[in-house]
Amino acid sequence: NKRANCPPDSEELGRATWTFLHTTAAYYPEKPTPTQRANMLTLLRSLPTLYPCSHCADDFGEDIKVHPPDVSGRASLSRWLCDRHNEVNKKLGKESFDCAKTDERWKDGPADGSCD
Ligand code: FAD
Repeated sequence: NKRANCPPDSEELGRATWTFLHTTAAYYPEKPTPTQRANMLTLLRSLPTLYPCSHCADDFGEDIKVHPPDVSGRASLSRWLCDRHNEVNKKLGKESFDCAKTDERWKDGPADGSCD
């Protein structure tokens, strides 16, 4: 792949960032400590000021104002993040993702073992 060593464009950056965020949510504790909750909130609230695609960052900041992060546990955080990603999908005219499949996509892999 010719572009493999090039700086990421906004699509590649987006895929890498969603991979990081969904995977981190998938392995977030079921019962996080206060420190883990606070750190997750800081991570998510940092994106609108630091994410290096400014219109993406601005829109994400507006979205999380209306839908504040739910850092109370693994399942609710994964669901919250799936909904936020679907907001971006909708804005870009992409298909909505079935949030019931979040663990399969980001943690367990399909039941047929094809990712093992
Ligand atoms: P991506 O959307 O990157 O998704 C990667 C994979 O995640 C998919 O293949 C699918 O398997 C899985 N997936 C899809 N939806 C969900 C979901 N809801 N829950 C769980 N898993 C899912 N791009 C812009 O052009 N404009 C923007 O304003 C913009 N805002 C962004 C804001 C944030 C916070 C981030 C992280 C990215 C943003 N992007 C934006 C990038 C955009 O979301 C995509 O990452 C990029 O367009 C590449 O899309 P893709 O089709 O490869 O799949």
